[in-house]
Amino acid sequence: MAVLALLEHDNGAIGDVATQVLSFGAAYAAAAGLPLHAVVIGPGGEAAAEPAGRFGVTTLHVAEHEGLVAYAPQAIARGVAELIGRLSPVAVIGAGSERGNEVFAHLGAITDLPFAANCIEAAPGEVAQVTRVRWGGSLLEEARVHGALKLLTLAPHSFEARPAAAAAQPAVERFTPVLSDVDLAVRVVERVQTQTGGGVSLASAKVVVSGGRGAGSAEGFAPIEELAGLLGGAVGCSRAVTIAGWRSHTDQVGQTGTKIAPEIYIACGISGATQHMAGCKGAKRILAVNTDPEVANTADFDYAVIGDLHQVLPAISAELRKAGLK
Ligand SMILES: Cc1cc2nc3c(=O)[nH]c(=O)nc-3n(C[C@H](O)[C@H](O)[C@H](O)COP(=O)(O)OP(=O)(O)OC[C@H]3O[C@@H](n4cnc5c(N)ncnc54)[C@H](O)[C@@H]3O)c2cc1C
Repeated sequence: MAVLALLEHDNGAIGDVATQVLSFGAAYAAAAGLPLHAVVIGPGGEAAAEPAGRFGVTTLHVAEHEGLVAYAPQAIARGVAELIGRLSPVAVIGAGSERGNEVFAHLGAITDLPFAANCIEAAPGEVAQVTRVRWGGSLLEEARVHGALKLLTLAPHSFEARPAAAAAQPAVERFTPVLSDVDLAVRVVERVQTQTGGGVSLASAKVVVSGGRGAGSAEGFAPIEELAGLLGGAVGCSRAVTIAGWRSHTDQVGQTGTKIAPEIYIACGISGATQHMAGCKGAKRILAVNTDPEVANTADFDYAVIGDLHQVLPAISAELRKAGLK
């Protein structure tokens, strides 16, 4: 028996969300008195052995299949289900990302087991006690999950990634899952590279400068792009902006957009609706730039500059240039 962590990876490279899953999985496994195993599905997975070892993983299962060259949710779930059959883990833990929750929904359907999404705490046991984030972060739900095997995903950025005191060298076990054409019917067939700021991705940027309806138009994003570029950050936006067609949905931050956790989030011309803040509450600091003085009283914002973003942002950028930033 073991606790099994499903790691999202890109050719074996695992990101922050996967290390949070490992750290959470390690705590769950320690509380259950069981070893932590991890599984990576798709090409290059064995490269995850070294980072997985830092979080105390004793065995890394690497699933490879000629059809598994890109993200294919049902096929990944099928591979995990096959491993569950051999390993009999007490819990499978994954990322509460859009992809993670999609894979786990398939896994729940394949195994006919209950699935608790977006957990921030979980105590193992015959009936697991979990606390999970609901309604875009406006509600914390305490729930009990029954069943010999618990399927849990971890809300991104809700659990700090802490490596184990001593790194281990996990055993690597390869397997080829049995997949049908139906399992591979939904899959990524093409990747189109989007560029934001200096090529920094919205999900991983340390600085994000976002614009809302207050930007006024697609062209109104020029000062937002300028500031993001100077700070080496990415540009984000609210849903009002994507609905207006000013920016692509890939830039949207929020409940139905990207969830981010930068060092600083600069929300310009954004009112701070719950569904927007659900995507950026992982930010260490949030600065609002808004014409409405009321935003200064909004608990979600750490700082506020009251003024027109079309005047405030160029003034900040000018000061940064004077300070030597280009
Ligand atoms: C199911 C559901 C899911 C949703 N998911 C998301 C989501 O993922 N992301 C998201 O963002 N929203 C989401 N929404 C929409 C959300 O509820 C808000 O409608 C949206 O976030 C508002 O966008 P906004 O702040 O840009 O616009 P508004 O609420 O209209 O705010 C505009 C702000 O700009 C300020 N302003 C105006 N002019 C200027 C200026 N010149 N300079 C500075 N400030 C100015 C105004 O004072 C105001 O505060 C969702 C809604 C639902 C129902």
